[in-house]
Amino acid sequence: MIRVPPHRGGWLEVVCGPMFSGKSEEMIRRMRRAEIAGQRVVIFKPRIDDRFDAEDVVSHAGVRMRAVPVGSVAELSARASGHEVVGIDEVQFFEATVVGAALALADLGARVIAAGLDLDFRRLPFGPMPDLLSHAEFVDKLQAVCHRCGGPATTTQRLVDGRPAPYAGDTIVVGASEHYEARCRDCHEAGIDAVTIAA
Ligand SMILES: [Zn+2]
Repeated sequence: MIRVPPHRGGWLEVVCGPMFSGKSEEMIRRMRRAEIAGQRVVIFKPRIDDRFDAEDVVSHAGVRMRAVPVGSVAELSARASGHEVVGIDEVQFFEATVVGAALALADLGARVIAAGLDLDFRRLPFGPMPDLLSHAEFVDKLQAVCHRCGGPATTTQRLVDGRPAPYAGDTIVVGASEHYEARCRDCHEAGIDAVTIAA
């Protein structure tokens, strides 16, 4: 398949996948290419994600690029103006209005690159991701390596004390590798309360 970006005007591209699939790395790679070409670039991330460094988007592989933590979508929109390429990392954590904000930026001529988890640990679509994926001109769904079987992983397994997290647990827990694993469909395990809640 040949991918041809528009010759004029903006567009939206989404990089999604489970944890440890290299989403941030891929976004940073694209942002750096644009930066080298002399384009005005900026990366935003939600302020809740401060696991490494408040000023950096940090991938698990240690590739980093400066990012601006924002507390709201309104702040993101205000600070994005004047940039030709706008990256949004951990986009799944933003409220639903991030979709309209991303589209507005693209309508105004910006290339918007949104990276985030497509599914939460229950394997449910995560926050604004379904709408972003629907509106995007380009979508890349990255895979990780299943921690259990070594196959291609498309889901994120949340573990609490080494066991599958309860379905009713909080969706948003920003954490490190001891709490999450990438898993394939076959190896992903539902929490023990999942059957009760689904019934
Ligand atoms: Zn597996």
